Amino acid sequence: MFENKNTDSTSISTLGEFGLIEHITKHFEITKNSTIKGVGDDSAVLDYKDKNTLVTTDILVEGVNFDLSYMPLKHLGYKSVMMSLSDIYAMNGTANQILVTIAISNRFPLEAVEELYSGIQLACEKYSIDMVGGDTSSSNKGLIISITAIGEVEKGEQIYRSGAKQGDLLVVTGDLGAAYLGLQVLEREKQVFQVNPQSQPDLEKYSYLVERHLKPEARKDISKLLKDMGVKPTSMIDISDGLSSEIIHLGRQSGVGCSVYEDKLPLDPQVISTCEEFELNSTTIALSGGDDFELLFTVSQDDFDKIKGNPHISVIGHMTDKSNGYNLITRADQSIPLTAQGWDATLKKEKE
Ligand code: ADP
Ligand code: MG
Repeated sequence: MFENKNTDSTSISTLGEFGLIEHITKHFEITKNSTIKGVGDDSAVLDYKDKNTLVTTDILVEGVNFDLSYMPLKHLGYKSVMMSLSDIYAMNGTANQILVTIAISNRFPLEAVEELYSGIQLACEKYSIDMVGGDTSSSNKGLIISITAIGEVEKGEQIYRSGAKQGDLLVVTGDLGAAYLGLQVLEREKQVFQVNPQSQPDLEKYSYLVERHLKPEARKDISKLLKDMGVKPTSMIDISDGLSSEIIHLGRQSGVGCSVYEDKLPLDPQVISTCEEFELNSTTIALSGGDDFELLFTVSQDDFDKIKGNPHISVIGHMTDKSNGYNLITRADQSIPLTAQGWDATLKKEKE
């Protein structure tokens, strides 16, 4: 986890908008051949030659999509970048550039913006991304951050949500539910702290969960992994909004149904033990927890031998005729319809 070392407080108004932009962008380096011009003009200039260009954008609003009492600004910066990159990787693409747009209220000092950008910069370095521009505004209340990611894919190599066929295997990367539980752990610690500010949280046994919430990693590796195995998925989607809702999205866009097997859902041991402790159903958490920056894809059954046993991926079900709908097959061999209730931050707030 990142340490928040900065305790100074400099008013942003002392710099002005241009001073602020210059201050936060000057440490970023351009490293990509496809970046002709980055920050500093009216537009960035990119050269994608004969590749297809991928563009995607995401927005995060304080109080709706994140809460700064559990999410330090550096982590927020890092996670915002991961969110956007994940959408490029879900198209089977390579991410190259981002644009960063922020609106900040005057309650944030310059040091807070520096923290945010240090997380963005770390993500750019680690994932080999050029930061090529953005926009800056003030906001009346809270922080808004929007990241646009730009990437490339060889013509014809992009993978859509719509290509799954009946009989295809449904595959997910990594493991499920840990990020949501990490948030539950942090929320509980906050409440304990409010009652007893002297309490020293012992988060050791939840380390993986908290890490998955605060410092998620997008699956840059999967495109290459699949290529090396000689497998091209028939469809793919990113599941940061929750597994069950994304299964339904993928199925609907492909015009097929799906059966998912409860006993195949990949769970980390910390997810299992923490679900027991919190009296939560681990299957529910895996299906609708959300914020797992993993990829969900389908492959032809003929590719089963190529993918089986790979530790990065799990076959969790198969696509069926559309008329079967979307079902969870439980350990007791019962079939239960999946609901689209993914991780919708807006809905969650409304329910509270
Ligand atoms: P414009 O008048 O076109 O909005 P700006 O003065 O806002 O231009 O931006 C100047 C340069 O700084 C542009 O290259 C822009 O992309 C970049 N920029 C502005 N705000 C940000 C930000 N928050 N993060 C990164 N780059 C930014
Ligand atoms: Mg501007």
